[in-house]
Amino acid sequence: MDAGAVAMDSEDGKSYSSRKEMWLQEAGEDAETSRDPDLNKKDEWYQNGIKYWTGVEATVDGVLGGYGNVSSWDVMESDRFLLDVLSECMPDYVRGNRHLVALDCGAGVGRVTKQLLLRHFHEVDLVEPVQHFLETARRDLKSHILESNVIQDHSLHRVVNFFATPLQNFTPEPNRYDVIWVQWCIGHLTDQDFVTFFLRAKVGLKPDGLFVLKENVSKCGMPNLFCTLTTFR
Ligand code: SAH
Repeated sequence: MDAGAVAMDSEDGKSYSSRKEMWLQEAGEDAETSRDPDLNKKDEWYQNGIKYWTGVEATVDGVLGGYGNVSSWDVMESDRFLLDVLSECMPDYVRGNRHLVALDCGAGVGRVTKQLLLRHFHEVDLVEPVQHFLETARRDLKSHILESNVIQDHSLHRVVNFFATPLQNFTPEPNRYDVIWVQWCIGHLTDQDFVTFFLRAKVGLKPDGLFVLKENVSKCGMPNLFCTLTTFR
């Protein structure tokens, strides 16, 4: 959204004359001037986000805000998209001789990992700050978890790491990922943290690795009207 557009806080229906004003009031941050943020406000912004999700049931329907029925459509479209970009950008994927690793950001209960990423990637890591979501993901993905004391079969597709942290504090291991998948969670980050997260996370990509960002966008004030999938390096 451009800085002059009207911004809406959908939680309590407050409206702001600009994106800049919204971020200043909601999270104490002015992304344009990069002035020091009001750290108390910023902390409150992040705590409110976690508090909200802590009160949500740890199910697919819960993480999708009551729209659990869109999950299969979402996964079908993501699958098509992922096949296209992997085939186009990673020729050794097509030949089947590339060991693929993905990171699922703001992973919730592991819906995207389970239904999409594990079908394409040999290793998947999850980052998720809400404890009961991550515990549910761990339980639900139990049969896919890589046991360190078992001899590794590299043809299997496995979940390796569960990182219990928010994206604004997360730095990935360098050079680990072919794809960093960020779906329906980036709006939790302030503009500054959004940018610094991608700068830090870039180090986690292999040289030809990709970010995939899937987010709802709005053209007229109300959210959830369009869903876009974007890749970048
Ligand atoms: N990507 C998942 C979950 C979407 S719901 C899916 O598509 O199924 C949004 C998720 O973002 C929740 O799991 C919530 O706990 C997580 N989240 C909230 N604040 C976050 C933050 N600061 N960093 C990372 N994830 C966050």
